[in-house]
Amino acid sequence: MNLARRMRSIPPYLFAELDRKRAALRAKGVDVINLGIGDPDLPTPPHIIDALAAAARDPATHAYPPYEGTREFRQAVAGWYGRRFGVTLDPDREVLALIGSKEGLAHIPWVFVDPGDPVLVSDPGYPVYAVATLMAEGEPVPVPLDPARGWLPDLSAIPDAIARRARVFFLNYPNNPTGATADLAFFEDVVAFARRWDILVVHDNTYSEIAYEGYRPPSFLQAPGAMEVGIEFHSLSKTYCMTGWRLGFAVGNREAVQALATLKTNIDSGQFTAIQVAGCAALTGPQDAVRERVARWERRRNMAVEGLRAAGLDVPMPKATFYLWIPVPPGFDSVGFAAHLLEHAGVVVTPGIGYGTRGSGYIRISLTAPDERIAEAIQRIGDRLGVPAPRALR
Ligand SMILES: *Cc1c(COP(=O)(O)O)cnc(C)c1O
Repeated sequence: MNLARRMRSIPPYLFAELDRKRAALRAKGVDVINLGIGDPDLPTPPHIIDALAAAARDPATHAYPPYEGTREFRQAVAGWYGRRFGVTLDPDREVLALIGSKEGLAHIPWVFVDPGDPVLVSDPGYPVYAVATLMAEGEPVPVPLDPARGWLPDLSAIPDAIARRARVFFLNYPNNPTGATADLAFFEDVVAFARRWDILVVHDNTYSEIAYEGYRPPSFLQAPGAMEVGIEFHSLSKTYCMTGWRLGFAVGNREAVQALATLKTNIDSGQFTAIQVAGCAALTGPQDAVRERVARWERRRNMAVEGLRAAGLDVPMPKATFYLWIPVPPGFDSVGFAAHLLEHAGVVVTPGIGYGTRGSGYIRISLTAPDERIAEAIQRIGDRLGVPAPRALR
């Protein structure tokens, strides 16, 4: 069987060896704690589940949904953007429902990228941006996020020759995996850059609601001029603990939103209407459940940062996201340190290299496991690792 060339362009799966080790440890009866995946362990708030249950019983929800999403859902999204960010959106032209934001992010290069076109992809970054670019036969060009700039890219370091030909620029703040945040001043610089080179900015704002100590991350669309150059992707997955429900949305520049809608009309038939009804309940209903969940992640963050620092790791305190992005101790690379933690502490973390070459000196820990499992993982790391002196462990 011959796979298409574009399938062969998918980067090799880097974690096969780690997966093998994890399976072997489990088979030996080791209690392995998974802090590797960014999937909330807390349940979807009950009023959202109730809305789905009631809507699923209504036969009106059983037919194909409107391609662009139900009018009610698009209005709920526009209302939420207005209340949350002060951004005005036309629900009929500037809002599109998605089957999870990943679906939209994966399709956007099909709409804007011709074979060989450069696409600017933050490094480290969510792997979908580069892979989706490859599927469209574009050329992902890594844009280094600079730790010295709080993991923002230096836009002036992007070569003119690349910027001139680039079609799309993928950005994501609050950022997975680094936990970094961006302010409006940075987004204004991005707007100027995008205008200068006529590039579509694709901003992934999945984590705008997962932020701590009262910090409220902005929308890219709040930057003056952003509606001319940008499209923002958002999701109910992380905010409302709805990863399994598959509901997201794209908002912003109407030409970009409508072009994505045209593509989607030809390949999918939208998300189940009852799930969109539940999405309306999430966006328009009480937000206490979001505050409670964020407070929980904040307590976990504080506990984990303190515990891991006591264990000798140099752990930055993230202002947003449920990730800790931790430089590996001297003598390790990211895969080696992840393997070390797995072998000696039975703890699964994600090697930073999975997010791009700039991630090679880091691991990512996700705080989406139950409190007592995170506490146990930190206890084990402290007891058994004695970092940063890895040799003393043996
Ligand atoms: C989780 C995640 C997504 C995907 O969200 P879905 O709506 O569940 O598809 C997109 N971007 C980033 C950065 C994520 O971490």
